[in-house]
Amino acid sequence: MSLFTDIKLPTGETYKQPIGLFINNEFVKSHSDELIETINPTNGELITSVYAANEQDIDIAVKAAREAYETKWSKTSGVERGELLYRLAELIEQERDILAKIDSLDAGKPYESNSQSDLSQIIELTKYFAGYSDKIKGSYLPISDEKFVYEIKEPYGVVGQIVPWNYPLAMASWKIQSALAAGNTIVIKSAENTPLSLLYFGQLIVKAGFPPGVVNIISGLGSIAGSAIASHEDVDKIAFTGSTQVGKHIQQAATSNLKAVTLECGGKSPSVVFKDSNLSNAAKWSALGIFYNTGQNCTANSRILVEEEVYDEFLTLFQEEIKKNWIVGDPFDDKTTVGPLISKVQLDRVQSYIKHGEEVEKLSKLEVGDSAIYKEQKGWFQNPIIFKDVPTDSKLFQEEIFGPVVTITKFSGFEDGLTKANNTKYGLGSAVFTNNIQKAHKFGRGLKAGTVWINSSNDEDIRASFGGYKLSGIGRELGESGIEVYTQTKAIHVNLSEE
Ligand code: NAP
Ligand code: MG
Repeated sequence: MSLFTDIKLPTGETYKQPIGLFINNEFVKSHSDELIETINPTNGELITSVYAANEQDIDIAVKAAREAYETKWSKTSGVERGELLYRLAELIEQERDILAKIDSLDAGKPYESNSQSDLSQIIELTKYFAGYSDKIKGSYLPISDEKFVYEIKEPYGVVGQIVPWNYPLAMASWKIQSALAAGNTIVIKSAENTPLSLLYFGQLIVKAGFPPGVVNIISGLGSIAGSAIASHEDVDKIAFTGSTQVGKHIQQAATSNLKAVTLECGGKSPSVVFKDSNLSNAAKWSALGIFYNTGQNCTANSRILVEEEVYDEFLTLFQEEIKKNWIVGDPFDDKTTVGPLISKVQLDRVQSYIKHGEEVEKLSKLEVGDSAIYKEQKGWFQNPIIFKDVPTDSKLFQEEIFGPVVTITKFSGFEDGLTKANNTKYGLGSAVFTNNIQKAHKFGRGLKAGTVWINSSNDEDIRASFGGYKLSGIGRELGESGIEVYTQTKAIHVNLSEE
């Protein structure tokens, strides 16, 4: 079997897709010759198969990353790393359209928003970390006349990275670009559902001029390839995005050599709407917060809390907003803002929550929008669903659903709102809507979450840190934290005296 295959996109053009493991700047077969299939979630059809790594392949990739680190990358200056990353940003810009189309095909992401918003973020963060490469500083600590300490930031060495399917290229870019800027080499595993864009990206790594072994891209199963990376004795740091359950496995596997660990896990983020807010704005942002990427978002605002006096008014505005702007359909149709879910497994999972809400908990369900496409298509489509008057002990209020399903619950005043907002085991993102400046900041301080949005939701910026409280994770990515998590500190004590 060849290491490249021709893929015809729904837009008509054909492109060459690499399907091997990307090790030492080359695409190679896996040792077992085993393949995994990747399916188009829009129609349930096979797109292609790619080589899947086993433990032996991971070991080879880690050796390549180690060799590259010791012989080349650790000797490269920040300026050189920055130049390579700038070249990478230019190449991503040049290939923006095809990269967006690949993820729209493989992950069902609406092409319009993917090519605009997601790819813009990837390009922006690549330039941001390119600029950071030569600005990583240490510190100087005077101790006495004859003694001082200086602290320097050094890369970990070989970093393992494991990413999910909800933003295939963006999640990988958050991790790869910052780890490279900080001076590490990488073995990264894509999600088994979405291997294609990251393999294509491997070609840009070569074109940009990164030395062989600096970035190694692996397709494969979490239980085999992922767990081999997490437990590998020669991987110095592991960074993961995905479910809390797998995050816990990663942390355990990492104990073998006490790897440093960064985990971005699940969430059950609230959107809290006070009666003194701009309600139509709150409805607009709250809809974006849950329905962007079909609710497959770790920071999805899947719980909306509304102050009781404006509950009915908000609900009407929210439904109007969904009808107007959250349109289920084919990802390559310009009007589509809600594509299919990633897989049959996820669709069944989401629908089992909907069934539970209706049949077991007897909650009141509102189905919004035109469900025609969902009924006609063979793909994994799900309409936006609202459950109203949901109590805080409901399974739907407490568990991450990861689909276009949102609960709405009343609250009464500041304290009740805050208690309800914090009433889950997660703490990733929280949105609060109010026009009272004191209340907004006090509420923000009271929220147990790594990110708070005041009068917006899911409005990320790559210059700010991102990460979770409680079961939502450990560590931060992006912004200055993006460099911080990929460096370790060395304190060098200097004695100038003769004694
Ligand atoms: P997941 O199982 O946590 O997968 C995330 C990544 O971890 C994938 O690359 C996966 O590989 C890998 N993995 C799985 N088991 C592993 C193991 N034992 N050791 C090392 N790596 C392993 O998430 P999922 O199955 O894709 O989605 C399930 C749920 O996770 C979702 O419903 C959602 O609640 C949550 N999720 C959260 C985020 C987020 O951004 N926080 C993103 C995606 C999903 P495979 O692809 O082969 O499984
Ligand atoms: Mg796929």
